[in-house]
Amino acid sequence: MNYYSTNKQTPATGLHEAVVKGLAPDKGLYMPEVIKQLPREFFEHLEELSFQEIAYKVADAFFGEDVPAETLRRIVYDTLSFDVPAVKVKENIYSLELFHGPTLAFKDVGARFMARLLGYFIKQEGKRRVNVLVATSGDTGSAVANGFLGVEGIHVYVLYPKGKVSEIQEKQFTTLGRNITALEVDGVFDDCQALVKSAFMDEKLNTHMKLTSANSINVARFLPQAFYYFYAYAQMKKLGKADNLVICVPSGNFGNITAGLFGKRMGLPVKRFIAANNRNDIFYQYLQTGIYAPKASVATIANAMDVGDPSNFARIFDLYKGSHAAVKEEISGATYNDEQIRETVRTVYNETGYLLDPHGACGYRALEEELCPGETGVFLETAHPAKFRDTVESIIGDSIEIPAKLQAFMEGTKQSIPISKDFESFKAFLMKE
Ligand SMILES: *Cc1c(COP(=O)(O)O)cnc(C)c1O
Repeated sequence: MNYYSTNKQTPATGLHEAVVKGLAPDKGLYMPEVIKQLPREFFEHLEELSFQEIAYKVADAFFGEDVPAETLRRIVYDTLSFDVPAVKVKENIYSLELFHGPTLAFKDVGARFMARLLGYFIKQEGKRRVNVLVATSGDTGSAVANGFLGVEGIHVYVLYPKGKVSEIQEKQFTTLGRNITALEVDGVFDDCQALVKSAFMDEKLNTHMKLTSANSINVARFLPQAFYYFYAYAQMKKLGKADNLVICVPSGNFGNITAGLFGKRMGLPVKRFIAANNRNDIFYQYLQTGIYAPKASVATIANAMDVGDPSNFARIFDLYKGSHAAVKEEISGATYNDEQIRETVRTVYNETGYLLDPHGACGYRALEEELCPGETGVFLETAHPAKFRDTVESIIGDSIEIPAKLQAFMEGTKQSIPISKDFESFKAFLMKE
């Protein structure tokens, strides 16, 4: 299948190139030329299938033309080595727990799938090692590093700002070794991002080594996120709760919710979506006014949603052909400040015993406020609360249990290479690799 750019200034290209490039040459985001409808019978018996079986059918609709069936099946089954259960929080509100993967956040799904698909393409090329550069403020680095760990033919360099990520986050990408190198940059996140961008532009460096990015706008990270919307529906159908399904997504760059909107285009019977924002409510304001006005982000306790110019807005705009009315028909919005997020985590914990993380709390609250009679709501619980331990413990005034998986990272030994934020020294380092 071909992929076109949302900016429409470059010709469409195949999956292989879209995955290796990430961003289109005209700086647009790649979109599949066709979003295939899945047959009605598929939905009628969805609850009889496993998560992996469902995901394979969805993956086949997107990638089946470009990847042999057995390879694609293996990639999907390897990627989804963990469950995504829908857990009841209270009457008609369910939490889709996306935190059972290796780094306890939903980004594991896209990162693991992309690592395997890229690994397959590289093996086909059969030549030089490919080097993935990724700048991170915390969560992306851990998902990408763990997703690519041990994938043959690929080496990952994670650039992160010294002293600016939590200890738990740092341990998740500095303790792995093997094909993962952590570079501790004496600077802030923007410096890390600038180093990566300069590296992609540097001719000499690109002749010396093959570079690519594992950015979240990559179609191989983005599309697999559709899998778990279908599985959520299957679980609700099993409970007899699939009619009038409302799905609420705590959103930052809007990749996650956009994958859900693709699912709906494929025929998934979701009645409507809610995008929950923190104070960075550019999308919420767009819904109210029809004007998309990006601005600088502000820091909140749901920090993975601190985005002032959501990159996947371009995909939503393209999907609805720029029609504000069409967007509003399928998606409504909500926005919460830190105080409201805290209050939600505290109240839900006290009343139901269910512990939300600050991002999931935005999703839960929007359902509680917006759900109409007869509707069932599912919100995406995008990360495990223990990833935000200090925040969550201070809200509930109690210590929380740290999952064994997270504990295991904490016991590893940090290995990272300190570098300055100066590009020439970064380049000199890579030239020796
Ligand atoms: C990345 C992230 C989000 C935001 O997802 P988008 O796809 O960027 O909208 C929400 N919650 C958590 C925990 C995240 O890591």
